Amino acid sequence: MKYFGAHVSASGGLENAPRNARAIGATAFALFTKNQRQWHAPALTAAQIEAFGKACAEEGYTPRQILPHDSYLINLGHPEREALEKSRASFLDEMKRCEALGLDRLNFHPGSHLQKITQIQSLDRIAESINIALDATRGVTAVIENTAGQGSNLGFAFEQLAYIIDRVEDKSRVGFCIDTCHAFAAGYDLSSAEACERTFALIDSAVGLRYLRGMHLNDATKPLGSRVDRHMPLGDGHIGWTCFEWIASDKRFDDIPLILETPVEERWPDEIARLKQFAGV
Ligand SMILES: [Zn+2]
Ligand SMILES: [Zn+2]
Repeated sequence: MKYFGAHVSASGGLENAPRNARAIGATAFALFTKNQRQWHAPALTAAQIEAFGKACAEEGYTPRQILPHDSYLINLGHPEREALEKSRASFLDEMKRCEALGLDRLNFHPGSHLQKITQIQSLDRIAESINIALDATRGVTAVIENTAGQGSNLGFAFEQLAYIIDRVEDKSRVGFCIDTCHAFAAGYDLSSAEACERTFALIDSAVGLRYLRGMHLNDATKPLGSRVDRHMPLGDGHIGWTCFEWIASDKRFDDIPLILETPVEERWPDEIARLKQFAGV
């Protein structure tokens, strides 16, 4: 089964996320389980957890249709010890929130070396950060997202995702998420069916599609290899609808959340309807 949705708002209560997803015809959704621009959040109460679970059940969402995203402040590959510890504590808290909510995965950007340590040193820190979080939690998979490679952000090359996964001890709780805009910005072509075949063959040989736990479906404002992370509505950018039609009709992308992070929310219902049409669901 194909599950399509968007990164919806949870403002006013986490239970609003599944309600907002249902309202746009989504069969999947992404959410922040806390304010993504702040380090700290009060612990979830039993009432909040119950309200979220109840809303998911009522609207028909199971964990495999939900892709929580962590805070943008976290840098698991930070070059400085104190800042790294702060990020690790915050990431662990986010993993625990997912665990408490009964969710089975957490999507995050790997991290940045900030030009102060080498890429490899930073990648090693990221892997260690994941190991620490997995040791202290149960049932939640750490889902590493590929990036556009803007600034000193790591995870733009598929080999970097593989490098991290290789160093994670519990392979059953590590995975990755492909953002189409980020891949394209990082230089992996997706603008034709042949290009999609080639790029996903590369992903499969470098990382292994068995680790794929979700996708972000976004078109790209800038041309191939721009290294600029700027999303566009599907069909409006340099990637084009062919890629999204190709993904929607490929069985390898069944049973994982396929999430829009496109910038015009008013178009989400149409984007989702069109993806469903391509998938025949
Ligand atoms: Zn992301
Ligand atoms: Zn992005």
